[in-house]
Amino acid sequence: MVNIKLLAIAGLTALLLQVPFFTTQAAAAEITVEVADGVYSYRPGDGYISMFVVTSSGVVAMEPVNTKHAQGLLKAIRSITQKPVRYLLITHNHWDHSSGGQVFRDAGAKILVHNEAYQWMQENPGRDMALPDEGWKGKRKDITLGGTTIEMHYIGMSHGLGMTVFRVAQQKVIYIADVVTPDRVAFAMVPDFNINEWIRALSEIEKMDFNKAVFSHSGNKAPFGTKADVIKNREFIQDLQKAIVTEFKKGTNFLKIPQVVKLPKYENWAMYKEWLPMNVWRVMLDMYMGPFPWRPALAFEK
Ligand SMILES: [Zn+2]
Repeated sequence: MVNIKLLAIAGLTALLLQVPFFTTQAAAAEITVEVADGVYSYRPGDGYISMFVVTSSGVVAMEPVNTKHAQGLLKAIRSITQKPVRYLLITHNHWDHSSGGQVFRDAGAKILVHNEAYQWMQENPGRDMALPDEGWKGKRKDITLGGTTIEMHYIGMSHGLGMTVFRVAQQKVIYIADVVTPDRVAFAMVPDFNINEWIRALSEIEKMDFNKAVFSHSGNKAPFGTKADVIKNREFIQDLQKAIVTEFKKGTNFLKIPQVVKLPKYENWAMYKEWLPMNVWRVMLDMYMGPFPWRPALAFEK
């Protein structure tokens, strides 16, 4: 049974790796951008954006994505510094973000992820995924390297397991995966998002002190964004909820609501036409069935 399950997982992962899921092409010159002193975004055009921080005592890399992306990220780091990569930080459990870690392990980095994600990764090994060295517990862990402090903030139920944002304290730059994607509607059928906890998590991020934010995905070409992007994403979800409630009140047929709801304010956002009806389905089901996925408070400490 175990073998069949593993084979199925390997097969699906192989398929996903072969499919050009995101096809945005970035010009070579725009791939690595210094967004603040020693803080770089890395966007090779595969739909995923990573970040790294160069300090006098070494480098901290964030989000390996997969082996190919991680190799490119390491190359980008090496084009800027020969200092050792001390840490690789991963935001959450999902294979499409947490794979490729072996590239950095081989380069000597210690791989860290929140314990909640660590447990999932242990039980659900992806074909391209290296199990991190440490699953850290609690709500916050800081790393100080060469006088630079990187804070890891676990933001609780929102998307996936162990979801963490990284804040480079002195430079006031934050790295956010999946819970904010500037200028794009929510991802397809909004997988593994607890809608109200997502809104709560975004409100908490809005209270953090940062001027610039690097996002794992973006609907625009800018190498970084700002707090305004976090606010706009939160407002989008709330506008979606309001529009659905309006249809409930009008007595619109449940099955028709995803076709009827329009949010012209966001019609210029990427994937508006393609994904808005799916976004409506997901948010509507959350209102209808109750919040999901859900887990007890403090589950992350186990
Ligand atoms: Zn995810």
